Amino acid sequence: MLTSKMIKDAALAAGADLCGIAPISRLKGAPKEMNPAYLFPEAKSVIAFGFRIPRGVQRGIEEGTQFYQYPSIAYGGINEIFAPNVLYQVGRVIEDAGYEAFVYRNTGARGCVSDMDGSEGNTLSPEEEIEYIERGKKATAHHRSVQFTREAREGAVPPDLQFQFRLVAVACGLGEIGWSNMLLTPEFGPLQRVAFIFTDAELEYDEMYSGKPLCRKCGACVRECPGSCIPAINSGKTVTVDLDGKICEWGDIDMWRCYAFYTHGGRYYNPFVPKEVFDKNENGALDLLEGKSEASEKEIMKVYGALEKYFPSWVGYNMAKCGGCIRACVSVLEKKGGCMEERFKAPLRTKKAWKMDR
Ligand code: SF4
Ligand code: SF4
Repeated sequence: MLTSKMIKDAALAAGADLCGIAPISRLKGAPKEMNPAYLFPEAKSVIAFGFRIPRGVQRGIEEGTQFYQYPSIAYGGINEIFAPNVLYQVGRVIEDAGYEAFVYRNTGARGCVSDMDGSEGNTLSPEEEIEYIERGKKATAHHRSVQFTREAREGAVPPDLQFQFRLVAVACGLGEIGWSNMLLTPEFGPLQRVAFIFTDAELEYDEMYSGKPLCRKCGACVRECPGSCIPAINSGKTVTVDLDGKICEWGDIDMWRCYAFYTHGGRYYNPFVPKEVFDKNENGALDLLEGKSEASEKEIMKVYGALEKYFPSWVGYNMAKCGGCIRACVSVLEKKGGCMEERFKAPLRTKKAWKMDR
């Protein structure tokens, strides 16, 4: 008989760091286009896997000396290599017991509504758009632009259904969502990524986290965001979700703004772009990074167009240079307590965070 213990043992043996299991009914409040119950209507259980982000992959960004390791290992490596292997191995255990394992690896910009702003249809991530324009050399609709997708049958949702990974991880008992919209876990604070399996097997379920709040509401993430994308703690700008009775609340982050800053850092946090480029701000392409325009897909495309060449190595994945909110959070949780104290012999941060003098 397939048990939750068999699944968790297999997950940890294959390389996952965390594993929690929830009944699919816990997600019943999700909007239809983002409700994983529609993925596989016979599913009874959802299994969440957590994969730690080694603290050391952010050391180079923390020092301002190496920006390649975080996106390549913590984004690309986990999403494309480490996590899929675990999904594959655990999926075998489930299917050997006669149940189906619908694996769902971490992926973005794939839903029938935008994962940036929830809008319907054709909002692409800038990276997807560049991939298409530059690599595909085509001028018509994106190869998987979602504006043409339709329900395959009555009562279904258009492909590709994408759900809120962090909320489903919370449903599976892995942790809570912090003010900065990161998943925080007792084991690793904000340092993990997630992947999932949906199955028709009924299993023993984990409770949702109910210990002391994992987010200190300290505002360090707000202060250290280079783009001021995260609202102040007492601003009242919140997103609140009732997850089967567990109230989850976080800051209503300007996601498009974050898209520009987490990939390009801005004047003070991007050592790859000469100061003169920011000073010149040719054709206003950097207005968004310079605080002269609101964030939108159009403005971000201008930023990407102007700065892409200064960070030529795409590592095959998002060229994340920021991690400001993550590092701030780790630093606070290590020093002031919460979920990360005493994990490391020395704290992540031993000196003032850097900022370029320009
Ligand atoms: S930095 Fe502070 S406020 Fe922000 S998510 Fe972490 S604990 Fe919460
Ligand atoms: S990733 Fe960077 S830009 Fe985005 S919210 Fe965090 S600190 Fe701000």
